[in-house]
Amino acid sequence: MTENNTEKASKKYEYSFDYIQKKLEGKKDSYGMLMKEIVRTGVCTECGTCAAVCPVLEWDHLAGQPKLVGKCTGCGICYNQCPRTITDPDQLIGEFKTGYVTNTDIPEAIGYQDGGTVTSLLCYLFDEHLIDAAIVTMKDPEKPWFPVAQIITNKDDAIRSSGSIYCHSQTVEALMEAVREDYRSIAFVGTPCNINAVNKMYNSPTGMLKYFMRANILTIGLFCMDSFAPEALYPFFEREGVDLSKVEKMDISKGKFHIYYDEDGEPVKSYKISQLDKFKSSSCNFCTDLTAEEADISIGSVGSGANKNTVFARSGIGTEIIEDAGKKGYLTVEPFNAINLNSVLFLAKLKKVSQYNIQKRKVFIVRDRDEEEEPKIESKPEEGQKPTFDIKPIIDARRALSVKRNLNEEAKTLELSITNTIGFLLEDLKIRIAIVDDVFEKNVWNTKIKELFPYEEIDVNYPLEEKDGELILGEVLIEASTQKYGKIYSKTYKLKK
Ligand SMILES: Cc1cc2nc3c(=O)[nH]c(=O)nc-3n(C[C@H](O)[C@H](O)[C@H](O)COP(=O)(O)OP(=O)(O)OC[C@H]3O[C@@H](n4cnc5c(N)ncnc54)[C@H](O)[C@@H]3O)c2cc1C
Ligand code: SF4
Ligand code: SF4
Ligand code: SF4
Repeated sequence: MTENNTEKASKKYEYSFDYIQKKLEGKKDSYGMLMKEIVRTGVCTECGTCAAVCPVLEWDHLAGQPKLVGKCTGCGICYNQCPRTITDPDQLIGEFKTGYVTNTDIPEAIGYQDGGTVTSLLCYLFDEHLIDAAIVTMKDPEKPWFPVAQIITNKDDAIRSSGSIYCHSQTVEALMEAVREDYRSIAFVGTPCNINAVNKMYNSPTGMLKYFMRANILTIGLFCMDSFAPEALYPFFEREGVDLSKVEKMDISKGKFHIYYDEDGEPVKSYKISQLDKFKSSSCNFCTDLTAEEADISIGSVGSGANKNTVFARSGIGTEIIEDAGKKGYLTVEPFNAINLNSVLFLAKLKKVSQYNIQKRKVFIVRDRDEEEEPKIESKPEEGQKPTFDIKPIIDARRALSVKRNLNEEAKTLELSITNTIGFLLEDLKIRIAIVDDVFEKNVWNTKIKELFPYEEIDVNYPLEEKDGELILGEVLIEASTQKYGKIYSKTYKLKK
């Protein structure tokens, strides 16, 4: 290993370690996650590694999957050894030279999305005569909030192009136009899929750009979780009373889509992203790249806090540009740390593992347990052999589940996130929710969950009732039980606005 590689590996180890440590403390990468992401989705290769590394996991030869035979501590070891889980930071966000947290330092930059880094970099590149054109996306003057890809050649237009439009934009068409118009040094701003297109045209054996390319292209990739079909999304907003011509900003943060008439004010409408799923562009369901892994510079908001950007400089020129823009007063550049990185890794992982839920991969072999029952040989474990457990755990009713609550007045629901914290598989879990008015129960709602694995979290939305346009609040009773353990949760909470 060369010195450089050694340095790189130790840097990588440093942040991987923090990442894993945090995950283990949060008990997120547990057996529940392994079952949910890998086994249930049919991605498991049946290698048996998970069972090999854990004293409370056995290989179930009949079901062809790991089986929990004791109390899971949620240590995450099985999850982190499985060859099918995506846990290596490089696999999640690609390689980069340096990470930064940045924001604009130029007073002219206005109307930017997060920290204004993209706009400020374009201003720097024009001022320094490092580019003669840039490819950006602006709002269509004819159709509010529809994206149009544009060639721009000056700083004022760079400032006008600020802000995100959460729809596909045909940026490569504008790039090809710029190449035909003989621009020689072009900054290209685009989503990861846009960057993938440019990269393929430039680098693949069948790519066409390299054959007649006379332009140098600097790729600036935007982080991207998903985009929406404007033909479907905007009519929905209009039906909801939004006047698109008055909208100044759209923003996605913390799982919600916000619409603003005044950038500095409160949003006029906010939706959970899951409410807008039906308007999502279908291609985004097949996308695994959150952070524009092939760009020279990747820029997003996750992990950096409000009005700032998370930035990855991936190429040498990318690093040079960020650092020089910082030195020349275009950007405030702060160092990036493991806390920023954890948020990016977490989101990147959500995007990568969502692939596992693609229906076409779900091919299950149904095995007939009665016919194939194997002879069981009961014996005491020998020294060095894994002990087997007679599972009759005593469930502490107060600690079997953890329930997080959120009153969503707009959606008229009580949102519950229920986690199995006991470490044993909970089968046929019955959940009962009701509003308690004196001694009477109202609006009783029951649901049954077939399996809740250790440390697995499920979301339940309890619909609230209204009277005279007001939500009926008060005390809410949440109960859970299984046939095996009886009642394992029962609590009453006061619902307040
Ligand atoms: C569809 C989409 C989804 C995104 N999802 C996430 C996410 O999940 N997490 C996250 O951290 N960040 C996401 N971003 C990136 C984020 O919205 C900001 O673009 C990024 O943080 C840069 O902020 P800024 O203040 O530097 O941008 P600004 O300085 O305001 O510059 C924004 C630049 O984005 C370009 N642009 C706007 N819309 C598009 C488009 N549709 N296609 C191509 N280029 C466009 C403009 O040309 C402009 O140059 C997304 C962006 C888009 C376009
Ligand atoms: S204790 Fe639980 S999380 Fe840890 S290795 Fe075993 S099954 Fe996996
Ligand atoms: S380690 Fe992963 S792939 Fe291997 S058997 Fe366990 S779940 Fe399946
Ligand atoms: S999610 Fe992927 S396919 Fe969809 S806009 Fe973003 S980068 Fe493109």
